[in-house]
Amino acid sequence: MSKSKDKLSPEQAVAQIRKAVAAGRVGFQCCFCREVVIDDVTAVVLITHWNGPRENQREQQWFCHAECFTKTTGEPVNALKEKTNA
Ligand SMILES: [Zn+2]
Repeated sequence: MSKSKDKLSPEQAVAQIRKAVAAGRVGFQCCFCREVVIDDVTAVVLITHWNGPRENQREQQWFCHAECFTKTTGEPVNALKEKTNA
């Protein structure tokens, strides 16, 4: 994750991603900080109507820095572990 305080413009992000792809790497824009993710790409997957019929579900992925995900969502809670410790 870049230490720059200035956010990338969409054009700057696309330019960085194209440069990475041209060099044989993958590049995405982080959905949290909007900076480019080149290495150690993390994906957040959203499934709508998760508890409904499978044919009604839709899925989409967003890419991010793992650090941004943890900073934004907090440490994940393991509900199963909490139940067994209760
Ligand atoms: Zn980020």
